Amino acid sequence: NDIVSPPNPQSARVFSSSSSSSGSDLIRATLFPGDGIGPEIAESVKQVFRAAEVPIEWEEHYVGDQIDPRTQSFLTWESLESVRQNGVGLKGPMATPIGKGHRSLNLTLRKELNLYANVRPCYSLRGYKTRYDDVNLITIRENTEGEYSGLEHQVVRGVVESLKIITRQASLRVAEYAFHYAKTHGRERVSAIHKANIMQKTDGLFLKCCREVAEKYPEIKYEEVVIDNCCMMLVKNPALFDVLVMPNLYGDIISDLCAGLIGGLGLTPSCNIGEGGIALAEAVHGSAPDIAGKNLANPTALLLSAVTMLRHLELHGKADRIQDAILNTIAEGKYRTADLGGTSTTSDFTKAICDHL
Ligand code: NAD
Repeated sequence: NDIVSPPNPQSARVFSSSSSSSGSDLIRATLFPGDGIGPEIAESVKQVFRAAEVPIEWEEHYVGDQIDPRTQSFLTWESLESVRQNGVGLKGPMATPIGKGHRSLNLTLRKELNLYANVRPCYSLRGYKTRYDDVNLITIRENTEGEYSGLEHQVVRGVVESLKIITRQASLRVAEYAFHYAKTHGRERVSAIHKANIMQKTDGLFLKCCREVAEKYPEIKYEEVVIDNCCMMLVKNPALFDVLVMPNLYGDIISDLCAGLIGGLGLTPSCNIGEGGIALAEAVHGSAPDIAGKNLANPTALLLSAVTMLRHLELHGKADRIQDAILNTIAEGKYRTADLGGTSTTSDFTKAICDHL
């Protein structure tokens, strides 16, 4: 590995959100604008952070146009180093070509930075009516292994094999994170979501680890729910759930289902938690190529993700102020993007949030 090369000065740009602070007061955070709608909604975050005078200095990194042999992907080694050094970052969505090409950028980030837990809060938004008004869930997705281990090959012509890897270490780690999260966030229950009746070895080990951790937290109720039943229960009555912990693929699917309960992918944030306290926030949604470049995207999911990053930095005052401005703008209803039935552009909606600060 050529890890001793000097950083490429062209690969990063640094700029600050706060005009009033001197450079030394600022916290440096990595920003990946990403693909598709990524740059538009990242711009929205930069604008809102500037308006709220958040003491953040962004170190912006772009996806390269050739594979970096040190990461085996289009992400440069310098961009990963930036997250490691800053400890916090925000990423826009990154597109992955289906069924061919290079190692997924998202998988590279999760593996290289050991981002083991993906925390996806999902709650009903005041003033925005869906079938439910009492959704308040946290999906915690194991983020490093399971069906997303990237171990796929052709056995013989016409037969392919994809390996689902579950380890005791990663399962205990994410279960511990989920129970600790529940305890420290006033949550009452953790549900482990699985298909251990069929995937007896893999999901069986995952459940065994969850049970082991549950014993350390007698104050938190623990239950196990089979994934298909979980989907039915979520659609029928989402208030049945509190904190849900699950292997990688199930977390990917269930969190999109949860987004649908509250108004769609434009609204749901997430934060990836890594070893050593790294936090890389990102929206649940992808690069939305169908609306990219049209000033139509809803920046709420990325903005709320940026709020989780501020909370990780314990900048709760700024986090509350920005979160309130977003939620009040949506509740008021005058400015909403098309996915929420409105006619506002991304820029108009962003300006309205800044006016609500
Ligand atoms: P997607 O989430 O990009 O889009 C699904 C639908 O939701 C589209 O109709 C889109 O217009 C809409 N949508 C998503 N975000 C929106 C927003 N902020 N505002 C308004 N509407 C929004 O899913 P997809 O089309 O399956 O994937 C597109 C690309 O994104 C693929 O290459 C996929 O691999 C990638 N992806 C990346 C991530 C990530 O970076 N974490 C996550 C999911 C998908």
